[in-house]
Amino acid sequence: MVRVAEVRFGEKIVVKEQEVELEEGLNCLLGPSGLGKSTFLRALLKATGWPYVPQELKFPSGRVEELASHLASLNKCCRPREYLENFSELIEELGIGYVLGRKVETLSSGEKQRLALALQLARGCGRLLADEPTSQLDPKSALRTIEVLREWTELSVVVTHDVSVMAECDRFYTLREGLLVPAGPEELGLPWGCLRDCLRPPRPSGTSPSP
Ligand code: ADP
Ligand code: MG
Repeated sequence: MVRVAEVRFGEKIVVKEQEVELEEGLNCLLGPSGLGKSTFLRALLKATGWPYVPQELKFPSGRVEELASHLASLNKCCRPREYLENFSELIEELGIGYVLGRKVETLSSGEKQRLALALQLARGCGRLLADEPTSQLDPKSALRTIEVLREWTELSVVVTHDVSVMAECDRFYTLREGLLVPAGPEELGLPWGCLRDCLRPPRPSGTSPSP
């Protein structure tokens, strides 16, 4: 059970104080822009201290491996050596193994987005809060990214408008009057049954579909 504190801007309460029961798996937070999704995710970060990828990415300048080494030294979930091994594996899995040696500021938005995810997943905490983590990615990279996120976490909360991400979600939430509630088809914008059937890329014949 996570106790989330109230967040208000002036008179407006965006997140109400509440207790949230999060189940394992990929939990998606949906809803229109301005609803309070990012604010809610930051409130969850404050309550839990879990690894977090914000919507607006800001990196210090420097080379990718300098950034990884710095985060490795601060991480509490695993030792620096393990962090760096995880990181090397993750950037390969995310299709950005070639960024080693590059200055972070020279990377594209999509490369930065996957780098931010790799830097947080490498912590090995098994938890992740991610705010629109595929917004800069093409559909194929987005799907791959969300598969990697799933593989490296036991419990995550992901804010998304991306249907390829939604197709991977275990359950859906939205915010109603500042409270986390199960989302309905109106938040999805698609019939529920269509999610996997319509959006998963066709598999090569002879391979069995995932459960
Ligand atoms: P979402 O992520 O769902 O698009 P946000 O959580 O970013 O929404 O914002 C929710 C609401 O809170 C919006 O109306 C936004 O304008 C307002 N808001 C967010 N941050 C601040 C802030 N620092 N000061 C004032 N209002 C803010
Ligand atoms: Mg937002």
